[in-house]
This record gives sequence, structure tokens and C-alpha cells, in this order.
Amino acid sequence: MDLFSCLSPFVFCSFASGSSGNCYYVGKQDEGLLVDAGVNAKQIVTGLVKNDLSMKNIKAILITHDHIDHVKGLEVLTKNTPVPIYAHSDCLQGLAEGNATKKIDSELFHEIEPMQPFEICGITIEAFPVMHDGRGAVGYHFNYEGHTLTIATDIGMLDKVVKEQIRKADNLVIEANYDVEMLEKGSYPYILKQRIAGPFGHLSNEESARFVAEVYHSGMKNIMLCHLSENNNTPERAMQCLYQQFHKKHVRPDVNTSIFPLPRHKSTGFVYL
Ligand SMILES: [Zn+2]
Ligand SMILES: [Zn+2]
Repeated sequence: MDLFSCLSPFVFCSFASGSSGNCYYVGKQDEGLLVDAGVNAKQIVTGLVKNDLSMKNIKAILITHDHIDHVKGLEVLTKNTPVPIYAHSDCLQGLAEGNATKKIDSELFHEIEPMQPFEICGITIEAFPVMHDGRGAVGYHFNYEGHTLTIATDIGMLDKVVKEQIRKADNLVIEANYDVEMLEKGSYPYILKQRIAGPFGHLSNEESARFVAEVYHSGMKNIMLCHLSENNNTPERAMQCLYQQFHKKHVRPDVNTSIFPLPRHKSTGFVYL
């Protein structure tokens, strides 16, 4: 058996992650989906090309919610390559009322029902509702031939539904948006600080680390911290916080579990799920 046949057929890559834009690829090595398109189309296409992919390999775009850092590139991206776009009906309504996706042919938009699994490219996809102040905000759970991934981003609070979706995944992309101290001492206006830390804002390093340490099991292959704030966090602080929580709960991550923050602006190579 050569090295490549040992690798999982289900892959993930990130083209951008953070408050300035988000876009991920989830799928096989030759076809799959984008989750969000929150940076300019050129950056997304460059990220695809880096992994020997192009928009021709993209069979659908799943949207988490209507905030601009998740939909900014959607219009240009689908102009030359019309790809079906899936989102919660409230998110679609939000997009219809805004300007960012005005020129997109309405026939490309498809409504998804949370907790109703559907299939694209043989990948089972389940959207689940999350507490956030974007319209129709959802996370996604994926299952391809038993390889599982949950993407949980832009979440004010980890409720029962989200926790369940995280527990059933062997691969996790979870928000670690801000360091509590940096946010408190930072220059953001009080009202914005309240919004970020509130139940419909974002997850702090500590909130997400505490839960990851609680649900961690040695079968977990990848834990990726996402949507790090540019002003209120650093990758080092996010990672340090996670290891502190592991230590507190006497958890020793297995050597086969990769744990890393997703870069804010750079694209990654394939992460094998
Ligand atoms: Zn966001
Ligand atoms: Zn958001």
C-alpha cells in the first residue's frame, strides 16, 4: 500500500478564516463544496488552484449566515461558474434584503432545513442552528463514508444542539474568536465588546477550549481553531488556552490528533479527515 492510499479520501482546506473573511473547502480530492465565500473571489480561486482544484470541481456553496465576512465573494465567484448556493431561508431572506449578492440569479439559491440531512457528491450534510446575530445562522456536520467533520463558527453560546453536533465528529473546526483579556482591554467601543462577548456574538478561546477538552477523545484526527479575531486574539493565545484546558481536565491529546489554528489570510493544503 502506498502512502496516498492510506490517506483519507475526505479532505478539508481553508482559504481564509477570521473576522476579515471565511472560506473553506470540504470534499473529495476532485469534487466537493465550499463553506462560505467571505473573501474576494480571486483569493478563493487561488486557494483552489493551490490544491489542484478549480471552480469546476465545486458542486455547491453552503452558507453559514448572511454576515459580509461569509458572503463577500459569492457574487463574483458564481458569475462565471454558476454553482448552487445553499442556506437557511432566513439567511436567504437576509441576502435578498442586502446588496452583497444582488446580482446573483435567484435560481441558484436553495433553502436548507436545519437537522434534515441531504447529500451532495456522496457527502451527507446536516445543518444545525447556532446562536448568532446573523440571519439564519447555522453550522454544518459532514459525513463521507464514516469520515466526519463539524464546522461550528460564529457562535455566541454553545447550546445543547451544537454540543451534540461537535460530539459526533472526529474532525472539528471550532471558533476561538477572542481572548477575554485582549477584548476587555482593547480599543473596541463598549457596545461592540458587549456584542462580541454576548450570547449572540462569538466564542472566546476559553469557552471553546473548555468544551473541546471536555469532548476530546483519542479518535479525533484534527482540531482546527477558526475565526480568530485580528484585534482581540493571537494564534498563540488560542492554542495556549486550549492546552491549559487539556491540562486542567487531565487530557493528553493523542500524537495522531493534529491541533492547530487556521490562518487568517493564507490558504492551507489538504487536511485529511
Ligand atoms: Zn464571521
Ligand atoms: Zn457572523
